[in-house]
Amino acid sequence: ARKTVLITGCSSGIGLALAVKMAKDEQERFKVYATMRNLAKKDALEEAVGHNLGKTLEIKQLDVCDEQSIKTCVNSIPDRRIDVLVSNAGMGLIGPIECQTIDEMKTVMDTNFFGLVRLLKEILPDMKKRKSGHIVIISSVMGIQGILFNDVYAASKFAVEGFCESLAIQALKFKLQLSLIEPGPVVTEFERKVFEDGMKMDLSAADEETAEMFTNIYLKNYKQIFQSLGQSAEEVAEHTVKIILAENPPFRHQTNTLYTPMTTLKYADPNGDLPIDTFYKMVFHHDKIFSASLNFIKLLRWRSRKSFDLGKSSSQ
Ligand code: NAD
Repeated sequence: ARKTVLITGCSSGIGLALAVKMAKDEQERFKVYATMRNLAKKDALEEAVGHNLGKTLEIKQLDVCDEQSIKTCVNSIPDRRIDVLVSNAGMGLIGPIECQTIDEMKTVMDTNFFGLVRLLKEILPDMKKRKSGHIVIISSVMGIQGILFNDVYAASKFAVEGFCESLAIQALKFKLQLSLIEPGPVVTEFERKVFEDGMKMDLSAADEETAEMFTNIYLKNYKQIFQSLGQSAEEVAEHTVKIILAENPPFRHQTNTLYTPMTTLKYADPNGDLPIDTFYKMVFHHDKIFSASLNFIKLLRWRSRKSFDLGKSSSQ
């Protein structure tokens, strides 16, 4: 039988790419419920999925910040059966915390963290009863490692990771699977919106040095980092499908091998200083080394583009 897959945040980016990829699966292994907060934004998805609409894919409304909308959506699915839940909806926030309101920060936590909690409160009990189900969460490398001026966003993804690490132990008892997908930079609406909001940010509450650091170091390098290291939404979707099809899916999966050396620093030093010192040096002392390494990364990326392999999966 086809696996039913519910994905959140499908009007753009990774959610859209994943929904389309799964709906167009040649072996028709999935029935996709592609959900979005605002159905007025369904055109891009409808166009991309083409004749599969209404067959292998249905579009439904779901706002991860609204419990009732989650309940209504899940109740509309036959037997409420969801074999694979992909928690993808999320938002970013950059800049000095002095210039952000607590309400803005709460919206990020409410979407990225409580959004997942609300989904699981509705869907986990059914999965536990059936003793089957796979919960796939689009986290981030920032769920394991903080980055300059991403304080609250990283906190929201750390919350997601801590929550899932705790839940994974219980899930094992019910034979459920949990997988955290951890992309590095991905070129989507997210990146564009976060950058534009950063450019528009009122920096008057920050001291001059901080404001200068944000504008002339962070924002100046932002586009370059996405251009050299960034993956496409389709690449992340491809990784995610392999994880969904894997016989023994891993708990964590990083999609960007070029980023892995950075996250490895965290595990290499139990004191936690190594990644912080490295980021500090990259940002503040070695401007030239930084751009040289970006160029080197571009070269590596070009070479490795066609060769990613996740090893065995039941799709092969
Ligand atoms: P995106 O902005 O294109 O997609 C995010 C989607 O979530 C949008 O369609 C948006 O409308 C939706 N959304 C926001 N709030 C919602 C709500 N309350 N209810 C339902 N949907 C809501 O960006 P993306 O890059 O595709 O982001 C998808 C996920 O990937 C996010 O969780 C993000 O944190 C994560 N991620 C992104 C990057 C990146 O660099 N773009 C890197 C790592 C992880």
